[in-house]
Amino acid sequence: MSGLPDPRIPAGPIADAWQRTKEGLPLISPLRKGQIDVLVVGTGLAGASAAATLAQQGYRVTVLSFHDSPRRAHSVAAQGGINAARSVAVDGDSVSRLFTDTLKGGDFRARESGCQRLAEISSGIIDQCVAQGVPFAREYGGSLATRSFGGALVSRTFYARGQTGQQLLYGAYQALMRQVELGRVRLLTRRDVLELITVDGVARGVVARHLLSGALEIHTARTVLLCTGGYSNVYFLSTNALKSNASAIWRAHRKGALFANPCFTQIHPTCIPSGDAFQSKLTLMSESLRNDGRIWLPLETGDQRSAEDIPEQERDYFLERLYPSYGNMAPRDVASRRARELCNAGRGVGPGGLSVFLDLTDAIKTEGREAIAARYGNLMKMYERISGDDPYRKPMRIYPAPHYTMGGLWVDYQLMSSIPGLFVLGEANYSEHGANRLGASALMQGLADGYFIAPSTVTAWLAGNAAPDVTPDHSACREALESTLRRIETMLGSGGTTPVDSFHRELGAVMIDSCGISRDAEGLRDGLSQVEALEKRFHGEVRVPGEAAGPNAELEKALRVSDFFGLAQLMLRDALAREESCGAHFREEHQSPEGEARRDDVNFAHIAAWEHQDGAEPIRHSETLQFTALQPSTRSYR
Ligand SMILES: Cc1cc2nc3c(=O)[nH]c(=O)nc-3n(C[C@H](O)[C@H](O)[C@H](O)COP(=O)(O)OP(=O)(O)OC[C@H]3O[C@@H](n4cnc5c(N)ncnc54)[C@H](O)[C@@H]3O)c2cc1C
Repeated sequence: MSGLPDPRIPAGPIADAWQRTKEGLPLISPLRKGQIDVLVVGTGLAGASAAATLAQQGYRVTVLSFHDSPRRAHSVAAQGGINAARSVAVDGDSVSRLFTDTLKGGDFRARESGCQRLAEISSGIIDQCVAQGVPFAREYGGSLATRSFGGALVSRTFYARGQTGQQLLYGAYQALMRQVELGRVRLLTRRDVLELITVDGVARGVVARHLLSGALEIHTARTVLLCTGGYSNVYFLSTNALKSNASAIWRAHRKGALFANPCFTQIHPTCIPSGDAFQSKLTLMSESLRNDGRIWLPLETGDQRSAEDIPEQERDYFLERLYPSYGNMAPRDVASRRARELCNAGRGVGPGGLSVFLDLTDAIKTEGREAIAARYGNLMKMYERISGDDPYRKPMRIYPAPHYTMGGLWVDYQLMSSIPGLFVLGEANYSEHGANRLGASALMQGLADGYFIAPSTVTAWLAGNAAPDVTPDHSACREALESTLRRIETMLGSGGTTPVDSFHRELGAVMIDSCGISRDAEGLRDGLSQVEALEKRFHGEVRVPGEAAGPNAELEKALRVSDFFGLAQLMLRDALAREESCGAHFREEHQSPEGEARRDDVNFAHIAAWEHQDGAEPIRHSETLQFTALQPSTRSYR
């Protein structure tokens, strides 16, 4: 492909743009839908909701996931809640406020039409989930309870204790399994999608490896939906599940799908700090804890006293001091940056001075242990189990960690990538979060994509693009299968002695250093040359034991890490090219005297969309962002 496709943003006022678009989309007779195959990759919130809804509409849906059950998708780990502009009775929330918070929270680097649609749909998501039986927390009188999340001054986050993702996923899973029972969904678990199949430039299938037999399979359909989650694991240590990966979207990128703003990655401020050099996963302490928890550090550098011995007047509640209006609810990028700054200045606590306190003791004193346990019981237990400290008695120690990726495959307003027929949903796409996602907005976006947007836009694509079936013996399928086989054989034959994890850990260290909470040109250039060198070493020195046949966890990892190398380089290039600070992309060279991000709206009010080129540097395209309903302003939480 060359150039950027039309993003298909509806003309005219944004307030009813989605309604107008939807009403204008072509439909397909229910009788014909049963003859059309749709392929959905991923069974997290985005994939399960899309597959269930498309099957309910009558399509023949095949669902692939590398997990053994849809319920194990990474969405199950989401803790704090899901946003919706629905709690109007409490504090006057509205669609317009959620729209404003999302666009501003993303530092004006998202499409306003998408943010508006998301805010509009949000309320219906909660209704749908309640109807499915999702046990949201309720007030005494039975109405749904809400709490606050960062970057908003209203309480609009609906939750089910600290297990919101799990409960929402069970709802979507039920809906999906009903369709499996009805014979409309063919659910294929333990399939690792390793390649996209395109026929005449249109997405028509995937190559997947059966993780138990090792067999390579071809799956074809009229359209493909990638719902494969985010790529924070490029940093090795992250809050994501160990197996979360970028392979499906990265292979699609190499086949022609543009990759948007890969450097927009979110480092979450409240994670349990890494314990030792052998750790392979970090644990999130939900942002919801900041509703009741206060973040602080001792005023005195090097103060070694335990938290309980430090009197009130010798504590620095730095977010409350720096951001009086939002305080501890400052958005994630801001909170992470401030914590790291103070730790770098020697003010941090705990081993290596790499933590700050998250303290619920005031709330426990005022409201009682029972009330706090009812809100966060599972999180408190998890913290105690991991750290050995009782958070009801002692403040938690937390530190920022990679958590979410706002970047992803470029999609137009209808969620179609630059490869016709390839739709991308949930965290895998680049969509409404701009340069910084607000807490509790990922679940909202994944479910908006899956339950409400894709079912209409996928139908529109299918209605306008009739094409003959593609069978596995088609030359495009055979070529995709053979090239995947060659990759596997090369990996197994590399003959090196260094385990995959060792390269992944090294890659993560380079990435967090050069492309983490803050970045500068020199560090990014250095990072790029280090990753290039590491990738070369990987291909010569990696050890991948075992065979292609049968289960081979090291082979799975090696394939994923080899994709991370390419993605890491694209992230570094993207961060280098974006000569401004916006949201989570903080370039040291572009900041105000107070240390706040300095955007450059003249040169960078656009989405960067990268095009892959075999054997040459990728090409950077840009989609200019238009603002009509809300003009970009300096994002201030002070
Ligand atoms: C610890 C934690 C807590 C969070 N808490 C919240 C919260 O409270 N509120 C909020 O809004 N957001 C939260 N988030 C973010 C949110 O959970 C995710 O962004 C969201 O769940 C992603 O959903 P998804 O459907 O896009 O992808 P996922 O849930 O990651 O699902 C991906 C699916 O794709 C499949 N897959 C991936 N690659 C392949 C492949 N190559 N082949 C086959 N299958 C593949 C997987 O098997 C899986 O089924 C949290 C994130 C973390 C890490």
